[in-house]
Amino acid sequence: MLDQLKQLQAEALSAFTAAKDTNDLEAARVAYLGRKGRLSEIMPQLASLSNDEKRLAGQTANEVKAAIEGAFIAAQARIESTVAGANAERAWIDMTLPGNRPSVGHTHLTTQAIADLTEIFAKLGFNRQRHPEVDWDYYAFEALNMPKEHPARDDWETFFVADPDGKDVQTGELGKVVLTPHTSNAQVREMKKGALPIRMINISKCYRRQISARHLPVFHQIEGLMIDGNVTITDLKGVIDHFVKNFFGPNTKTRLRPYHFRFTEPSFELDISCTVCNGEGSVQGTKCKLCKAGWLELGGAGMVHTNVLKAGGLDPKKYTGFAFGWGVERTAMMRGGLKLDDIRMMYKNDLRFLKQF
Ligand SMILES: [Zn+2]
Repeated sequence: MLDQLKQLQAEALSAFTAAKDTNDLEAARVAYLGRKGRLSEIMPQLASLSNDEKRLAGQTANEVKAAIEGAFIAAQARIESTVAGANAERAWIDMTLPGNRPSVGHTHLTTQAIADLTEIFAKLGFNRQRHPEVDWDYYAFEALNMPKEHPARDDWETFFVADPDGKDVQTGELGKVVLTPHTSNAQVREMKKGALPIRMINISKCYRRQISARHLPVFHQIEGLMIDGNVTITDLKGVIDHFVKNFFGPNTKTRLRPYHFRFTEPSFELDISCTVCNGEGSVQGTKCKLCKAGWLELGGAGMVHTNVLKAGGLDPKKYTGFAFGWGVERTAMMRGGLKLDDIRMMYKNDLRFLKQF
């Protein structure tokens, strides 16, 4: 019987060593360690042996069983690690291959223009201030020398807030509430802060009842205001010139044309030399498509009207100042030398368009 056990051990060990996969392993386990396996077959023979023989054979049988079980566990570990290795091989990542680059966006061209405007004026000491986009019509009109019944107020196509007339808690003025149709409400609000001299810009959204290829119901304007003891048109010209050269390019020229606004006197329209034809009016003999005879309209400007200074609580004998303003979207387009057939393109979120800027 001892020989049989030794023989069985040798056969079992070689079977487990030869097992290549989980099927081989299971077959060997059933054949040698199973309930009807070879080891179980031998065990009943113990009963027929004498007591001394039984002790020795029993001890040997236990050793053989332990050896076979050890071989099974070793084979099992070997096969599992082979399978894991094969899986790892399939899932292997080549770290040297180029990755998938996440697409990175950029700010909208209006946002870019706002950042540039803010930076350029900051260098001249004009700080960006925040004033309400929902305001009393007093600041949008009356304080700017446009009395209640003045026809100029019809020009603005203003949105009124659906609210009864109210009273401004600060000024006690009666009036309606409007979505600001321009950024000029900042003028008197800034003066009323009482901190002089004033050098400020106000960039914010404006709202008008208009929508067409040339007009947006919501757009941005910049308002500039400088007030001090002896501010003149020369200062206005210098500030505008500084802005134009820094924003549109060092060769851009500026022109002031007499005009009429209610809140400035004298008033001007601001033109700049065309960014496409460099003020020539034509490109290689062909009439420039962007400008009128070499000039582009930028915006409006002028010396602050004495009535507006008074509304701001300032003495027109002591203080003078200038104001200017224009649309941010239009400015951004002009810088790119672009003439959009439809300005609404700017806010259609079409990446094919926006990626170009
Ligand atoms: Zn031109």
